[in-house]
Amino acid sequence: MLDLSKLKNVTQRGNKTIAACPACRVAGGDDKGNHLFINGTDGNGEYGCVAHEGDGAHRKEIFSYVGIPENRDFTPEEKRQWAADKRERKQAAHREYLRITEQEKLTTRIQEILERKLAPYLTNDWQADLWHSSPIRFDHPEALPHDFIRSLFKPDDILWMGETYDTGSPQHAANFKTCRDWLKLDTLPPRIAAGTFHQGGISRSKDSVKTSPFILLESDDLIGHKPSTPEERQQNKSLSSALIGYAQDKLGLTLRAVIDTGNKSLHAWYDRPPEAAMNAIRKMAAGLHIDQAILERCQSSPLRMPHCIHEKTNTPARLLYLNPI
Ligand SMILES: [Zn+2]
Repeated sequence: MLDLSKLKNVTQRGNKTIAACPACRVAGGDDKGNHLFINGTDGNGEYGCVAHEGDGAHRKEIFSYVGIPENRDFTPEEKRQWAADKRERKQAAHREYLRITEQEKLTTRIQEILERKLAPYLTNDWQADLWHSSPIRFDHPEALPHDFIRSLFKPDDILWMGETYDTGSPQHAANFKTCRDWLKLDTLPPRIAAGTFHQGGISRSKDSVKTSPFILLESDDLIGHKPSTPEERQQNKSLSSALIGYAQDKLGLTLRAVIDTGNKSLHAWYDRPPEAAMNAIRKMAAGLHIDQAILERCQSSPLRMPHCIHEKTNTPARLLYLNPI
């Protein structure tokens, strides 16, 4: 029999007790603390280590650390302690159950509230609706990288464009050009940062950013989880389009561009609002499932241009909406 009070990380799983294996731990292993299993919940059942199944010496070692020899009588104090421990473990398991149940309820409730907030902005044909509401009309969205940067930046703005990792070495000076100079090229690189940069830089880092005219809102789990089927990906984009309507209507953001990434989300570019409004958005970001890393770092992140091919789907990103500054 094993003394459960001496074990670390004790949890009950069905009619099994799982804990850190003291023998593995002594040898520096079992980081997660779940190697030891004991049938039953009182430490009295068969036990073993999942990393050393059928290893008698390992079992003996475990016993030497936490075993209770069978041929001795328990003192009344030990018996009481044992019963108290058992009660405590049962209560802890129940509290854990309640906590998980409560969390699930709350998550469902938050998702319901979110979907209710977005419902008025859902449309049957969000792609067409975005396209029709775009101040600039375009029939061949794939061919619009030039219009994209011309519409969002001033000719003298220094922009970083390139592949994701084109940053940090001397040769990457070529990835920083004025908007005017980029426009002279026939083909533009697949990615761009949303900020403008200081002259003479080689690094697309936060410190090199001169101005941050835009913020980017993206959510790849608005449906409550990451989409895994084509239907769920469409559903997530449809809700994302509703979020765009909501952000303009209720958050007062000015929409500049919408890019369908070619996978499961939309990138919505907005004018960066004043800091007070920005702080309000930061507080709401988690509740709205907005990607907070992109929100904070879009000015120096390698964002998809309208023709960027998505690695996972092999589909080009598509510009759906463009509103020149
Ligand atoms: Zn072990």
